[in-house]
Order: sequence, then C-alpha cells, then structure tokens
Amino acid sequence: METIIRLAAALGIFFIMICWEYFSPRRKQKIYRKQRWPVNLGLAAINIIIMRLTIGGVAYLSAVNAAENSWGLLNWLAVPEWLAIIVTLLFLDFAIYCQHIVSHKWLTLWHLHQVHHTDLEFDATTAVRFHPLEIIISMLYKALCIYLIGGNPWAVIVFEIILNGAATFNHSNINIPPAIDKKLRWLIITPDMHRIHHSTFPKETDSNYGFSISCWDRLCKTYMAEPRQLQTVMPIGLRPFRRQDELGFMQLLLLPFKALRHR
Ligand SMILES: [Zn+2]
Repeated sequence: METIIRLAAALGIFFIMICWEYFSPRRKQKIYRKQRWPVNLGLAAINIIIMRLTIGGVAYLSAVNAAENSWGLLNWLAVPEWLAIIVTLLFLDFAIYCQHIVSHKWLTLWHLHQVHHTDLEFDATTAVRFHPLEIIISMLYKALCIYLIGGNPWAVIVFEIILNGAATFNHSNINIPPAIDKKLRWLIITPDMHRIHHSTFPKETDSNYGFSISCWDRLCKTYMAEPRQLQTVMPIGLRPFRRQDELGFMQLLLLPFKALRHR
C-alpha cells in the first residue's frame, strides 16, 4: 500500500511537470528529448525494478521496526506524535542534504553521483537519472538515519513523497516568473536555484545541495543566488562529458566502474 501511494504521487507530479515544461519552458533545449529521455527513464525503470526486488520500502519498515522496539531518539524520549512528525521530517531532510554534500566530496560516491550530473539538459527526467547503486546506498543510509532518530512511520512516508515531488519540481524546465521564484526560494528549492547545482562550473556545482527546503544551504553557507551566466544559457552537465552519444544507458551504468579503474 505504502509503495502504491508513493508511486501514484510520483507519477502524478511527474506528469504535471512535463506538461508544464511543454507549455511554459524556462530554457530552449538543444538536445532532443528522444535522445535523453529513454536513458533517464530507463534508469528510473531499472531503479524501480531493483528496489522492488531488494530493499524497496525499507525506510518505512525501519520506522515501524524502530517504533516497535523503542529504538532511536524520538522513541526513547516518547515525544508527542505531532512533534515526532516535525522532527522526523526536518532531520531526514537535513540528513539527505548532508549525504548530497558527501556524494560530491568523497570520490568513490562521486563516481556514482556523477551519473546524475552528466545530463546535458535539465528537466523533470533528470530527477530520476541515478545509478542503481547510488539509490541502494541512499536507501540504506536513510534507514540508518530513521533508526537513529526513531523516525515516525507516517512522517517517513510523507518525507519520501515530499522528497520525490520536490526533486521532480526543482529539476523541471519550467518557467516561474522571477519575482515569484525569489519569494518561493525563502522556503523551498526552486528550479532556478537547483539548476545552478547542475552548472559545469565547479564552484556552482558545489552549491545549492538541498532538495526540498532551502534553509540548509543558507544556514551552512552553500547557497548561491545566481549563476555567472544567465539561467537561460548557462551550460549544464560536467566538463569531461559533453557528448550525448557517449552518455547512453549502458555507458552510464558502467561509468562509475570505469572511473574507479582510471583512478
Ligand atoms: Zn549533486
């Protein structure tokens, strides 16, 4: 049931975003969708299958298990449910922000995470362009965090839906008027804010790590307001990977192992 709710919410938000991108795009894309989308959606499909066959749902099950055994901070303290929900949501969001920074700084994890960053355009399908090993590692890390905090099971489901929806939203190639974008940014990560993280300039890539709320970047001084070039023309991707024909489905699956061999 929990999986169906998550999948339905993810598909619904994805559908809204690709319609919005179609009717009101932020940038004119140079690479055809038919070149990129099969790769990105192919990775999404393989990730869904692998998760279904292995540790899918482990986050929720960890929260239920922690609650049954009174493991984790919130269960020890027996805090009221409303407080447990708020703390779980904030703690998990900060934990994912920290994981994202480590994925950029620790070379082994970067080999996996760079698959996400090699996309030469930036749209809703970029949000699902992840190497399966990174997805598995993320899920195990999330489960560990849930055990540590004693995460509320309902909050964990809500968190998964918010994280997924926020990632689809902030990777979208949608046009939001600058004045509204500026206001939204005080609370959430907008596409203009997260696009900077997908810039080819390393200083810009090393900024705006958040996925849902923008406060972690502001508090931890990783926030960047604008890229050095205009949002509509700034180059997206990574400098060593500029050719779409070298970024096929199998090439991306093998990319981390190739990078390890060349170290
Ligand atoms: Zn990143």
